[in-house]
Amino acid sequence: MAKILINKDNLFHNLKIISNHAGSKEKVAIVLKDNAYGHGLKEIASLAKEFGITKAVVRTLDEALEIENLFDEILILAENNMHTYSHTFHIALNSLEQIDTLANNCNVHIKVDTGMHRNGLAPNELEEAIVRLLKKDIKITGIFTHHRSADEVGTTFYWQNSVFNEVKKSVKSLCEQLKVSLPIFHSCNSSALFRTKNFNEDMTRVGIATYGYLESDEVFDNPNLKPVLSLWANKISSRKLLKGQSLGYGGTFTAKEDMIVSTYDVGYGDGFLRLNENQKYLTPKGYEVLGRVSMDNLSLNSLDDEVCIFDDVRNLSKIQNTITYEITTTLSKSIKRTIV
Ligand SMILES: *Cc1c(COP(=O)(O)O)cnc(C)c1O
Repeated sequence: MAKILINKDNLFHNLKIISNHAGSKEKVAIVLKDNAYGHGLKEIASLAKEFGITKAVVRTLDEALEIENLFDEILILAENNMHTYSHTFHIALNSLEQIDTLANNCNVHIKVDTGMHRNGLAPNELEEAIVRLLKKDIKITGIFTHHRSADEVGTTFYWQNSVFNEVKKSVKSLCEQLKVSLPIFHSCNSSALFRTKNFNEDMTRVGIATYGYLESDEVFDNPNLKPVLSLWANKISSRKLLKGQSLGYGGTFTAKEDMIVSTYDVGYGDGFLRLNENQKYLTPKGYEVLGRVSMDNLSLNSLDDEVCIFDDVRNLSKIQNTITYEITTTLSKSIKRTIV
């Protein structure tokens, strides 16, 4: 069976770099949405707790419920149906309309749209939101925003920062007026955190860097992170391919000379997508993926019983013309994750 190995040393290495840059472990909220970017929600959550991380970010209530007892605070980014209450949960408020759907007494982090124009309240809607939330006895525990271009050279990052700084000022004075306690403020994802020299916010939401990657332009002073996940496959069968014979769907690979090929039990059904056929993909040991990837298997010029398909997805993401996030997040939930 195909399997995924989670390298605990590498994960801890990354978490150490991240918490050092953030100033403390307490400031780090580990982003575990979408099955921890394909790494396994439960597995990564329990390792993060063991490391000393106390905050997490997920997409849905179901994800939050699975890891509720591992963290002190869990921010839920996109849930419109909060049918249960826990003091551990903090719900992201993405619009004014959402206020009516929230239960009294729950905890809310208000998301502010500082320029990405995807989710969140406009800065001029904040006062109305705060007043309406307080009327429902909802606790405003955080105010946050998200960067659209923290990984690219350019001024957008600074522009969003300055908009958010204005938001901080007005929320602070509003809280003084209304005599309510100050929420925490946070804006940085992985690339924004490492682009910020003297990080001084209350929290940072770190996803991809935890898993060992950063999509930031190379001009930035990027940390030395280590990929956490590797994908392994087992041999199904081997055969001799004679010179001139073609392999797999469409026969897109033709042997230039007699050769031995083997089939392995990973395919696009597992999330190892069909490669761009015009570009070679080599495994870490140098075996070549021959022809098209099928749903449940692929062929390599190897005889090994077990092969590592990848232990670093940067090269694969370039070949597939995508980002590292997409490669790991696509991996099927049904593949067993083992911590090593
Ligand atoms: C996914 C997500 C993050 C994490 O981003 P990375 O680039 O993986 O660090 C942070 N904040 C929000 C709102 C997100 O949706």
